[in-house]
Formats: sequence, C-alpha cells, structure tokens
Amino acid sequence: MNPPAETANLAKRDESVDWTALRNEFPILRETVNGHPLVYLDNAASSQKPQQVIDTVRRYYEHDNANVHRGIHELSNRATEAYEGARQRVADYLNAGSPEEIIFTRGTTEGLNLVANTWALDNLRKGDTILLTEMEHHSNLVPWQILANRIGAKLDFIEVTDDDGQLDLQWLDEQLARARLLSLTHISNTMGTVNPVAEICTHARAAGVVTVVDAAQSAGHTTVDVQAIGCDFLAFSGHKTCGPTGIGVLYGRRELLEAMPPYQGGGEMISRVEYRDSTFNVVPHKFEAGTPNVAGAVGLHAALDYLDAIGREAIFEHDQRLAKRACERLAEIDGIRLFGPSEDRSGVVSFVLPDAHALDLATMADQKGVALRAGHHCNQPLLAKLGVAATARASFYFYNTEAEVDRFIEVLHDVRKLLV
Ligand code: PMP
Repeated sequence: MNPPAETANLAKRDESVDWTALRNEFPILRETVNGHPLVYLDNAASSQKPQQVIDTVRRYYEHDNANVHRGIHELSNRATEAYEGARQRVADYLNAGSPEEIIFTRGTTEGLNLVANTWALDNLRKGDTILLTEMEHHSNLVPWQILANRIGAKLDFIEVTDDDGQLDLQWLDEQLARARLLSLTHISNTMGTVNPVAEICTHARAAGVVTVVDAAQSAGHTTVDVQAIGCDFLAFSGHKTCGPTGIGVLYGRRELLEAMPPYQGGGEMISRVEYRDSTFNVVPHKFEAGTPNVAGAVGLHAALDYLDAIGREAIFEHDQRLAKRACERLAEIDGIRLFGPSEDRSGVVSFVLPDAHALDLATMADQKGVALRAGHHCNQPLLAKLGVAATARASFYFYNTEAEVDRFIEVLHDVRKLLV
C-alpha cells in the first residue's frame, strides 16, 4: 500500500517555521483573481489544500481505490487499511481513547445532527433543557431546535457579553443544574472568541450534563484534546483543516456510542439482517451506513499529518499574530466596529464600517483579488443581538502573510474611497 501522506519532506517545524516555504506548497495560492494576486482571507469558511493532500488523494484513486470492509481482493484490503488508518490518525490527533470513538461524517454539521438524532432523541424527554450559547453557528442551533420541537424540550442559552464577545459564565452552574445536554462552540466563527471549553465541560460533568463541542473553527488551528477538554462528543470538518470537502469527524465517548441507537440504516452498520428486524454492528461502524468517503478520509489523514508536522501551537500563534496586526490597522479607521475580544482571540476578524456596507465591501475587495466574507456567517441570532445584519470578515491561516494583511487594509481604504 502507498503511504497515506507524503510527510517525509516536512521536517518538524518549531519557532523557525519557514512560512513562505509552506505557502508555496499550496498551488491555489498562486492564482490571480481579477488580474490581482489572490489574497485568500476566507479560511473560516474553508481552508486551501497543500500539494501533499492533493497528491495523496490522487494516489489513492490511482493505486488503491475500492470499496472498504467488503472485498476479499487486494484493492479492497488496501482501501480498508487506508480508511481504518485514517481513523487511527484522527484518534491520535484528538487524543481519543481509541479509534472506535471516531466516526467519519460529512462534516461538523452532520456530526452535530447525528448526536441530536441519536443520543439526544433517545435520552431527552418533554420538558428537558438543552443548553447552547448565543454564539452558535446555525449548524449547532437548528438541529437542536428541530429536536426540541419534536420532543417538547426547551432551549436555554449562555449569553454573550455585549462589549467583548465572551461567554457570560456567571450563571453557568445554575443553567447546568436545569440542563441535560450542553452543546457549544470552541471558537466563534464570527467573533474569534476562544471559549474555555475544558473549564465549562468540568462544570457540566459535575452537574451530570452531557457535552458536545463544535470544533469546526479550532481543530485545524490549535490543539484539540478530547480527554483534556473532557467532552462527551466533539465534531469537526476536514475542509477547514487543509483536508478534502465531504469528510468530517464525530468523536464520541465509547460508552455513550455503544448505548446509542444508529443514525442511518444500511450498508456497513448492520451485524445481521432479517426481513423484519436487524442487529447492528459494533462502534464506530454502527454509525457509518453506506459506502464511506474513503478518499476523503485518506486526504484528511494527510492533512492532519501536515498540520502536526508544522505544529498546532505554531499555527495558532501565526493566526493570532496576523489577526492582531489586522485589528490594530482596522482600529485606526474612524467609526469602525470590531467584534470579539481584544485579547486571546483566534484568527477570525469581523468588522462593520460606518460608511460602507459589508457586502459592497467584500464585492469590491474581490475585484482586487482579496477574498473576504460578508453576511451573517450562519450566525443570524448573534448578529441580531449585536444589532447588525451583516459583518465583513477576514479569517487568517498559517499560509497568510503580514504582507497580505497590509494588502487587505490597503484595498479596504481604496474601496472606501469609492463607496463614500
Ligand atoms: N460550526 C462552526 C463554528 C462553523 O464555523 C461551521 C462552518 N462555517 C460549522 C459549524 C459547519 O461546518 P460544515 O459546514 O463543514 O459542516
């Protein structure tokens, strides 16, 4: 079997990380957009892919592709080995107790829906409370709304402080005392807030509340250790972590997974099937109905190798350095509103200008090759609370440079001159 990732040329990188060399490993960053060099600042929506990940997926299709767990033949064995090798790699990446605690999904959204439709549907009753926060992405809000409406459960929210976008945890223990499940994001995709998930999960555990962490914005950027966090479930997406689209991960504590009903029926999730009844496979296969995204898992394996070869601490520091520079330069603009904490934040920077609509700004920045995001960022209730309909958002990753931050600010000033 071919190695799942070409990591040999990636020496362990520490403070002396050669960020320019890394950047050169991303072919798409050499694109020009509207006649300008691409400045890709939409990493919170999706990350770009290094050559190593692209090559690994191509190599899988060229040499190893077949269906998994079914064949007696060589290619099926190779595909199965690659798929289960990816599961082991994810378990190591998250410091999970075993690969059986790793379920492959389509992404964070599917992972959260899986928990809502299995553990929660099976365990929550009319009148029970599901605790969320006011900063949740729609993917960690709507599944709980659907479930709550279906079973007559209630939703409660940990509030966000107006001034700096932090969770207001003064009522946490009271809120937990009324709740059965808590689902919250690790890092806010709009404000860049880094939530103290380990501390919150410690309180939740003491209160007997099951915890779900949305790690969509953190898994590719910083250390995510499910044992240190102490959560029961955690979900993330491959496409935001330098991996392919269409692959994601749900971590679940083994004893909970074993007691849960299946999510979807069919394919590998069965043990024995009769016309009127079936018995189900062991975890994690019980939750993976149908042919899985093997190439996606193999690509994700390569992506996680890639990120760990750089070092997640170094990546997060780089994100933070760029965000700090952007915030400082943005703060010089009269009347600008910057969202989120001023300290200890991630690489996500949202803002509203007094004189230019976010959508106009992003559209005109695109004319100059700068990819920003503008809108509600799937955070409509949060934006309503903050009193805005849309923000412009720049989100940084390790392949972005300080020169790109400066180019983004320069373009912003040019665009404002045209808009006001
Ligand atoms: N949660 C958060 C915090 C996110 O930022 C996103 C993606 N924007 C999601 C969930 C959903 O991720 P996906 O679309 O990959 O399922």
